[in-house]
Amino acid sequence: MSSKQATAQIDLDAILHNFNRAKELAPASQVMAVIKADAYGHGAIKVANKLKAANSFGVARISEAVKLRESGISQPICLLEGVMNKEELNLASIYELQVVVHSDYQLDLMHRASARRLVWLKIDTGMGRLGISVKNTAAAIEKLGHQTLLGLMTHLSHANGPDSGPTNEQITKISSLSSELKRIEPAAGVLTIANSAGVLMHPMSHLDLIRPGLMLYGASPFDDLEPINELHPAMTFSGPIISVRTVSQGESIGYGGLWTAAEDTRVAVIATGYADGYPRETKQGTPVLIHGQKRCLIGRVSMDMICVQLEADDSARPGDRAVLWGEGLPVEEIAKCADTVAYTLLTGVSARVTRTYRGEVRG
Ligand SMILES: *Cc1c(COP(=O)(O)O)cnc(C)c1O
Repeated sequence: MSSKQATAQIDLDAILHNFNRAKELAPASQVMAVIKADAYGHGAIKVANKLKAANSFGVARISEAVKLRESGISQPICLLEGVMNKEELNLASIYELQVVVHSDYQLDLMHRASARRLVWLKIDTGMGRLGISVKNTAAAIEKLGHQTLLGLMTHLSHANGPDSGPTNEQITKISSLSSELKRIEPAAGVLTIANSAGVLMHPMSHLDLIRPGLMLYGASPFDDLEPINELHPAMTFSGPIISVRTVSQGESIGYGGLWTAAEDTRVAVIATGYADGYPRETKQGTPVLIHGQKRCLIGRVSMDMICVQLEADDSARPGDRAVLWGEGLPVEEIAKCADTVAYTLLTGVSARVTRTYRGEVRG
């Protein structure tokens, strides 16, 4: 931890623990571990090598899938948004990827393709974003023709919130569609619905395959942003103190002089800012851990730095590290202070932040 830069320490054992927790919650289901966006900022290749027990992996972009394959990951990989054109479809064949089909143009691509592909048909049951409509699903299955249907997929739009009504409706919709269609196509009997919120809160959504993402990294998918005790946070984001100074009474700090010292105050400057992924929207007063103690963010977050108010007898010195979230400081708490969710904080940790790993397994 002596690095001079912002660092994200990744605990791969925590990710394995969270993965196993998802399996315990849904013992009858297979698991597609969702590792898009570089495993939500945690490093997709490292995470995939750790999760040997995952039945498959889910990614959003074909480039993400290609990187995983080229690093030697051999489990099935699913393109959650499918392919755009023939070139991508060919890449999907070469790299043996599962493809999600959610739109008519993709059905046309599949229809014209000669090679057989493994296809999930995505049905819109309420998200309103991607997916074949319930009433067009039978025709879509027919149009897939000789492609191998793996099953039906849908995505939950309300599972992160307190009202379970819409989630139950979505489950009912796809379940009755599935039981109707499996008479003509047995694979339509295979269902995947659950994201992390579904895994944690809606056992009825587990079915054949769960697709946990955020929970694998130990963060809560729920709107209340309460940390979930049974999950282990996997990322500790920290930065080095590069200056400790005394600001005299009446002097201000940072852009716009947002904070003014009411009395002579010691201030630590930490070399981490919004270019590292610490949001500029983070409010003054947000906790930062220094020597395990909560201290307050003051002034405006700048590109490469933040300032933190020290107590008179704090022994913090340049070179010491400050924890911005992670061990001892839940990412959910910081998300609240920045008016956002854990998803954006974790995926927002930028490329210049060094990742270090605990519990690494080589491929
Ligand atoms: C991102 C994603 C998931 C995982 O969602 P979490 O809320 O992170 O668990 C599951 N399914 C699909 C289709 C996704 O795009």
